[in-house]
Amino acid sequence: MRIKAQVAMVMHLDKCIGCHTCSVTCKNTWTNRPGTEYMWFNNVETRPGPGYPKRWEDSDHYKGGWVLKNGKLQLKAGGPISKLMNIFYNPDMATMDDYYEPWTYDYQNLINSPKGENLPVARPQSQITGEFIDKPEWGPNWDDDLAGGTEIVSTDPTVEKLQEHISMQYEKTFMMYLPRICEHCLNPSCVASCPSGALYKRDEDGIVLVDQEACRGWRFCMSGCPYHKVYYNWNTHKAEKCNFCYPRTEAGMPTICSETCVGRIRYIGVVLYDADKVKDAASVEDPQDLYEAQLSVFLDPFDPEVIEEARKAGINDEWIDGAQNSPVYKMAIKWKIALPLHPEYRTLPMVWYVPPLSPIMNHITNEDELDTDGYIPAVDQMRIPVQYLASILAADDTKVIRKVLLKLIAMRVHMRGKTVGGIDEFRQS
Ligand code: SF4
Ligand code: SF4
Repeated sequence: MRIKAQVAMVMHLDKCIGCHTCSVTCKNTWTNRPGTEYMWFNNVETRPGPGYPKRWEDSDHYKGGWVLKNGKLQLKAGGPISKLMNIFYNPDMATMDDYYEPWTYDYQNLINSPKGENLPVARPQSQITGEFIDKPEWGPNWDDDLAGGTEIVSTDPTVEKLQEHISMQYEKTFMMYLPRICEHCLNPSCVASCPSGALYKRDEDGIVLVDQEACRGWRFCMSGCPYHKVYYNWNTHKAEKCNFCYPRTEAGMPTICSETCVGRIRYIGVVLYDADKVKDAASVEDPQDLYEAQLSVFLDPFDPEVIEEARKAGINDEWIDGAQNSPVYKMAIKWKIALPLHPEYRTLPMVWYVPPLSPIMNHITNEDELDTDGYIPAVDQMRIPVQYLASILAADDTKVIRKVLLKLIAMRVHMRGKTVGGIDEFRQS
């Protein structure tokens, strides 16, 4: 057993209101310098939507993370051959169009612009060239502001049918927010991708950092990270990424995104794990087994043998105490209500998400259409489809999501019973 301590985070998605305070306070703290304009160490995505950078989960468009070949883990992007080929051009890397070109708002436009038919949308001006961008097609959270649909007015029965179909689609519309930071993975493919050895995982707390002295600006970490959470500073020509606010955490303070989170959705804590099991856990064949495999690397911080081994490994009592009182340990490992983002990338990410509960859609009445797997239909009638949640949090395994949602519903019913005075009384109220 090789025990290590890891700082980790749980985000409770039911509580995120999409206010972006976390992104802004993070930006003001870490990326308010020349060369970092487009960087968001913390970003909040409107889902479903392409995210930031655009389509970062599209494996046909980008590579990143690990793949199993003949039972062995291999980097999908940034291996030795592609490093040789890509010295001058890295085709796996996101381009500026996939992020967005930053602009400075001219607040006069709020007052002086002529009235138009459309919602007010800033015409972006490049901070680099000073020129206006003709076709503002992209920006973080574009989907937030520009969501819309098509209305067809026609008496043609075929078109009417199409219109009916579109209305039904509107009824099924759903959205949620997904805040994202670097996952400070247990098996980080960014570290493995770097030809200069500039990225490293800190031994004492597992935070993944870029050594600015050692970075040579190869940018293989950018394509090697499947979460697209490494950025290139065009001013210093070095890679930069979320550092889990280590100067704050070292002083016993929470990360700036956690401290300023309006919804109080973020929980920080320490977990103990066996580093000898990481490679095997990342190498299980079936992607749907990766969640259970990931859980298997964690250790029970109350087990006397684990405590003894942790002390021998140099983990002090303050950290062991932290692991025992860790909300991450409770939510992710003990209660199993928080799930890793895209476990199929095989990096063993350390930011976990409690999936959101959403209202029951009454108009779904045909239970034959529902694939309930024996679970109560309420979970399958929620506005945010379990299939969608499974696609981002459980490698498409809907059973995993259903189990978590059922636990959350049970907890909600229990708490309402306690606070409102019983479920019958609650129903009547
Ligand atoms: Fe590295 Fe962070 Fe990407 Fe994981 S999420 S591969 S630690 S940059
Ligand atoms: Fe969500 Fe909190 Fe960020 Fe607001 S500050 S967007 S509630 S994570």
